Amino acid sequence: MYRTNTCGELRIGNVGQEVTLAGWVQRSRKMGGMTFVDLRDRYGITQLVFNEETNAELCAQANKLGREYVIQVKGTVNERYAKNEKIPTGDIEIIVSEMTVLNESLVPPFTIETNTDGGDDLRMKYRYLDLRRENVRANLELRHKFCIAVRNFLDSKGFLEIETPVLIGSTPEGARDFIVPSRMNPGQFYALPQSPQTLKQLLMVAGMDRYFQIAKCFRDEDLRADRQPEFTQIDCEMSFVTQNDILNTFEEMAKYLFKEVRHYDLGDTPFIRMPWHEAMRRFGSDKPDMRFGMEFVELKDTLGGTGTFGVFNDAKYIGGICAPGCAHYTRKQLDQLTDFVKSPQIGAKGLVHAKVNEDGTVKSSVDKFYTPEVLEQLKHKMDAKPGDLILIMSGDDAMKTRKQLCELRLEMGERLGLRDRNKFALLWVVDFPMFEWSEEEGRLLAMHHPFTAPRPQDVPLLDTDPASVLADAYDMVCNGVEVGGGSIRIHDAVLQAKIFKVLGFTPERAQEQFGFLMNAFKYGAPPHGGLAYGLDRWVSLFAGLDSIRDCIAFPKNNSGRDVMLDAPSRVDQKQLDELLIDVRPQTK
Ligand code: ASP
Repeated sequence: MYRTNTCGELRIGNVGQEVTLAGWVQRSRKMGGMTFVDLRDRYGITQLVFNEETNAELCAQANKLGREYVIQVKGTVNERYAKNEKIPTGDIEIIVSEMTVLNESLVPPFTIETNTDGGDDLRMKYRYLDLRRENVRANLELRHKFCIAVRNFLDSKGFLEIETPVLIGSTPEGARDFIVPSRMNPGQFYALPQSPQTLKQLLMVAGMDRYFQIAKCFRDEDLRADRQPEFTQIDCEMSFVTQNDILNTFEEMAKYLFKEVRHYDLGDTPFIRMPWHEAMRRFGSDKPDMRFGMEFVELKDTLGGTGTFGVFNDAKYIGGICAPGCAHYTRKQLDQLTDFVKSPQIGAKGLVHAKVNEDGTVKSSVDKFYTPEVLEQLKHKMDAKPGDLILIMSGDDAMKTRKQLCELRLEMGERLGLRDRNKFALLWVVDFPMFEWSEEEGRLLAMHHPFTAPRPQDVPLLDTDPASVLADAYDMVCNGVEVGGGSIRIHDAVLQAKIFKVLGFTPERAQEQFGFLMNAFKYGAPPHGGLAYGLDRWVSLFAGLDSIRDCIAFPKNNSGRDVMLDAPSRVDQKQLDELLIDVRPQTK
């Protein structure tokens, strides 16, 4: 037997027991004639003691142990003189009588501790060492618990877990496909699924009724903190349901997961269901962070018009937010905010502010353009109190300006400590537009994916005004993050063909790409719908992480590389020849 106990297990009640432990040397300290070693495994850390007086040879051996050596020790559990309250095993130590070095270790390139000295790149290269760190390991444990809870919940609701293939054809979710050449079919390629969307719909045609899968999805797109080229979805689909059935089922699941995994009670009140247009108007975002207010107030009527401040004169949109208690902001702080909104990522032209003084008077950066009455009106409209700071942005493109104001709202929320990671605010955003116009492609694109059904009442608009059609689609949003989304699907081949037409597919191309689905719909497809949750995002929210990377065992870096495996990489000419592939030299 390698061990009788783990390194996280022994307590005061075990004092006097003979035990055998195995693990890694986290750290060792020599103090006078005593050597102390922290022995670590997945379960915790236990202190080992070697005494020069009682066993000089063993103590000399212990003094030679390096960090991350793998050892096995036999000894007696002893009550510690100086207890360590920070760790669960802190009341005891092991007086070692025998030791075997199971494996030596090179000096690790960074310290294997929660506050490590290793930078991101180094830790990614040696991810197997990084994973030994307690905080990183805890994220994987959380992920595991999350998956188990998902399976338990969905199983209790009659969902079947069904795997779908990874080597398939294109599934349009709005990103580029990763493609895989087929040796047996030279010149032809598989595409990796951007999601199992079409397959889960076929499972509904197949009568599976309720499906789920913890599925890998692959999207070749530019990476950000919350994106990876491959990521995991909790993918679900249900038959004979309306939007209401789906929202109720998955709201219940969200509450269950919060309770079981995060030990957080979301209460009994149903989530708000906010139409997309309203979310954009009130928060400038389709994923509003509802942990705090600071809603947008439209100010065109108050501040727009002629003869006033030049910039506002013919702005199509003027909107403001009221930052409570920020009237004391200094010139420098206000300049910082202006620089923030003018930064290339946000791209606004400027920022106007108005302070409400303690006596209720208003002092604004554009005072001279407005009468005191107008400033008074502004204060009322914003519902601003003495001590508040009103921040105003304007622009010719209302949607764009709202998005910029949204960034400012989030920034102010952050500065005011209103985006508390231990508080959660969830809602559904519903009634998304069906299509969005692409300047680049000169055509309408599906906002969700092309299998999304329009709201039944909007179907006639497909012929007259497709751009205004709303979709039977929904997103679940938590703390300003889209954690899941889905839709009721089209289950009628004729309507599906019509949508493809609006999206600019010729009948031939639609048939070529999605013929299999349209044909399946001809054999009695049930009404169906579903959604997919982003597993990585959920787990990182639960863990309070900034990036999804930290809850993925082996993540990729910002350029989509696995620096540990050094992938992607070149392949042998022989392999390319078999695939009939010529690689062209890279041109700038
Ligand atoms: N396949 C969709 C997505 O990946 C989710 C869904 O509609 O169920 O976003």
